[in-house]
Amino acid sequence: MKSVFSKNLWKFILLGMISGIIVGFLLQGSEFLFLVPWIALPGNIFLGLLQMIMVPLVLTSVSLGICSQSEQSDSNQNLAKMTSFALVYFTLTTAIAITLGVLLTELIQPGKVLDPATLQTLNLQSNVTNLPTSDSLSTTSLTEKIPNQILSILPKNPLQALTQANMLSIVVFALILGIALAKMDSDKSKPIRDLFQSIQDFAMIVVDWALKISPFAVFGLMAQAISKLGLELLAGLAYYVGTVVSGLFTVFLFYSIVCYVIARVNPIQFFINCKELILLALSTSSSVSIMPVTLETSIFKFKVKQRIAEFIVPLGATINMDGTAIYQGIATIFLAQLYGIELNFVELISLVATVTAASIGTAGTPGVGIVILSGILASFGIPIEGIAVIFGVDRFLDMIRTAVNVSGDVTATVVTNRFFS
Ligand code: ASP
Repeated sequence: MKSVFSKNLWKFILLGMISGIIVGFLLQGSEFLFLVPWIALPGNIFLGLLQMIMVPLVLTSVSLGICSQSEQSDSNQNLAKMTSFALVYFTLTTAIAITLGVLLTELIQPGKVLDPATLQTLNLQSNVTNLPTSDSLSTTSLTEKIPNQILSILPKNPLQALTQANMLSIVVFALILGIALAKMDSDKSKPIRDLFQSIQDFAMIVVDWALKISPFAVFGLMAQAISKLGLELLAGLAYYVGTVVSGLFTVFLFYSIVCYVIARVNPIQFFINCKELILLALSTSSSVSIMPVTLETSIFKFKVKQRIAEFIVPLGATINMDGTAIYQGIATIFLAQLYGIELNFVELISLVATVTAASIGTAGTPGVGIVILSGILASFGIPIEGIAVIFGVDRFLDMIRTAVNVSGDVTATVVTNRFFS
């Protein structure tokens, strides 16, 4: 596999981002807002290209990664160990992130400092934006849904999972296919492996093309996002936004320390290696769409073995969402404080467990975190109307939590590489 990062790419992406932010501010409330869909067109083409190759890339990367993993170790034992390790690691880091969020929110108490007058204004302003649909605001308890969710991951009809781009089911199908391919005689499995290799190469060429237009894409997506961002909302919810941002920043620092302790990657170098990935995460708010870039970052910047990155990244992009998890934890307690609902210790523990499960079920696409949040609020008897208060600033927080989500996936590959290469 050849790296798709050119030397100055990040500088162009950064330039696109800064100019996008400026243009977005200029467009706010102006009569040129009708231009926004045109300005965002390169960004949507960029996302479209990445989405186009997403399903084939996940299917082929995971299967080939598993297949070569099994061949290397001569048995499936190593693979089973690595899978269990990854699942435990993902769950543990998610639980740590939420606990951190709970502690921060209890310490800062952002929900108690909001002036009721501001709340009223915020509510009025937030109501004009598109709130999640009533379908997504289910009141069924999340714990009741979990067994069904586990069962629904098993792809009973793989073709349906592929056409519906159901990532978690595709990862499970690819895992089963990869193990089966490794068990077959190599002359029998060779046609599929060769085909998958060609598909993977095709996908990486498309990623290369997408990255070539990424500075323009970032410009348009940023301009679009900022033109819709309510600045008054950001100021009114400063404590809440500040708590989420400091929580996310702490999780990012935690990753850099983990990479230093486990693989001796200097924290500054960690940030430098992740720069393109972070810039793209900030502008797309979609960890699944930029999954190919996460893969490349792990392999080429952190020198993670390809077979390990190909297994961990698709899995992580689907279920490892520490940024989303800490955000959901903070938002829940913030709204509880706002409505004067005291959560006792047992409820806080149950919140950590619920959010861990919920973040696993959160798809890595823009704005999904807040939709899942509504289910969490319902489980704890917190009025889901509270979503209206925080909805206006969610696009901004989504950018940062996506950057943390993808950095978490890279960290997971570095840690797994240390123990399984
Ligand atoms: N946008 C996030 C991601 O793609 C998910 C979310 O928190 O909304 O990682």
